[in-house]
Amino acid sequence: MSEIVNNITGHKNVCTEVVARNLCIGCGICASICPRENLKIEFNKFGEYNALEIGNSCGEKCNLCLQVCPFYNDKDNEDTLGKKLFAETPGIKHTPETGYYLNSFVGYSNIKSHRENGASGGLATWTLEKLLTGNLVDHVACVSGNNDPEKLFKFKICNTPEEVRECSRSCYYPVETSEVIKHILSHKGRYAIIALPCMCKAIRLAMHLIPKLQRRIRFMLGLVCNQTKSKFFVEYICGLGGGDPNCLRQVTFRIKAPSRPASDFGLRFISENGVNPSREGVVFWTEGMNRIWFDRYFTPNACDFCDDVFAECSDATFMDAWLPEYVTDGRGHSIVLTRNREINNIFLSECRKKRTVNLISIDATIRSQSSVLFDKRSLIRERYSRYRRASLPTRPIRSGLMSSCRYDQRVEAGIKLRISRESPSQWISADKDIERFRKRMRGLTLRLGAIREARKFLKKFLGR
Ligand SMILES: Cc1cc2nc3c(=O)[nH]c(=O)nc-3n(C[C@H](O)[C@H](O)[C@H](O)COP(=O)(O)OP(=O)(O)OC[C@H]3O[C@@H](n4cnc5c(N)ncnc54)[C@H](O)[C@@H]3O)c2cc1C
Ligand code: SF4
Ligand code: SF4
Repeated sequence: MSEIVNNITGHKNVCTEVVARNLCIGCGICASICPRENLKIEFNKFGEYNALEIGNSCGEKCNLCLQVCPFYNDKDNEDTLGKKLFAETPGIKHTPETGYYLNSFVGYSNIKSHRENGASGGLATWTLEKLLTGNLVDHVACVSGNNDPEKLFKFKICNTPEEVRECSRSCYYPVETSEVIKHILSHKGRYAIIALPCMCKAIRLAMHLIPKLQRRIRFMLGLVCNQTKSKFFVEYICGLGGGDPNCLRQVTFRIKAPSRPASDFGLRFISENGVNPSREGVVFWTEGMNRIWFDRYFTPNACDFCDDVFAECSDATFMDAWLPEYVTDGRGHSIVLTRNREINNIFLSECRKKRTVNLISIDATIRSQSSVLFDKRSLIRERYSRYRRASLPTRPIRSGLMSSCRYDQRVEAGIKLRISRESPSQWISADKDIERFRKRMRGLTLRLGAIREARKFLKKFLGR
């Protein structure tokens, strides 16, 4: 346990125990529940959200922020939380990969604009709207574009289906929940919220501590997540598309092109520097976004220790249908894993109408996320032991769930760790210039390339 303490008061809080160890994902829950309003969420110099101590007013015995932090509180993990939440639900089942579940479904929203503007099949937006129009909640907290170049996306409270619809698509950019959780605590009503797995855990921890939050948050929808990215990710993609990364004004993720498979989606950007004409462009996944994503450029440290693939604390989890039978359809299909009976009934009733949603087996659902599972249940072990060997701070992972990986995969994981650690400072020292940045990263990219070539060779000539 940490020996680092707050310099001024000697009091432990998330800043001394989590941020100082570079384990903060910037979810914002600690700042939303601090009784002395001593914390806020700010971007650090690497474009990641972190908790920041504003004053010096921690209560003598207060450790509320540490109790809700998903990267500190290890008394409760996704197994114990999932058990408390769902184990007694009639008809519930469990797998080590997914946690608890009732059913899983595949399909798309029968409302055209949901699918057109959705990340995959638009079922997350469809479900949030159903909860509102079915009078199961009064408000929905989800992520929307934001008219601030320093903060291009943020969580927002929506009161109408139209507002929810405007928040479609995935957001691969830092977002935090402190404002919306504060809003929920200070405004009566029944709420639904959609969040990444780490945020789902944090919100559940806060709900267990604060009865008002427990009463007000009626549904929590989760997204499968393999990693998130700092602000630098969209800056790099903007630069790749010929825009000015220093003057990004707007970003739209998950642009669909009918001629491309669902997996080859685009990112649209607009950059404006007030001198040259504004520059707009779309960069597709296979045009360079894929390498930056998979090679873990600009990935926050905290994601290195995240073993929750299917947002195990959520009432229903939404993901892309990354299966051969769906991936070729560029319009997109979503898979939904249900844990809450009301949401499950909404989907079963949709299935009965035999329209655009069907049941899918749990094996196929797990298969659709095989690469995320490999990362979060195999490679994570290698990352963890490399951190330990380098005497860097870690957090416990659910080792009972882990499987092993090959030597070449372990070496590759080690190089990617260096990429995620070095890319933010190299992006800054290259003045956000793509060519200069690439030169600085060349040593690591060449090593990754060599491993991939060796793997291809072994497969071709030795069949392994
Ligand atoms: C960082 C990240 C990583 C992901 N990784 C994977 C993956 O590896 N495999 C996979 O199958 N799916 C992944 N997803 C989920 C996937 O991108 C889609 O969100 C999912 O398929 C639902 O699509 P949909 O069309 O049903 O959602 P839509 O109808 O488009 O609705 C999406 C909803 O999610 C909300 N939202 C978007 N971004 C965020 C965010 N960052 N935090 C909280 N809420 C948000 C939006 O406000 C909207 O309400 C990831 C999503 C994110 C944000
Ligand atoms: S609760 Fe969230 S924002 Fe606060 S320290 Fe933990 S990870 Fe960071
Ligand atoms: S990988 Fe885990 S820690 Fe990182 S953003 Fe996704 S859910 Fe959060």
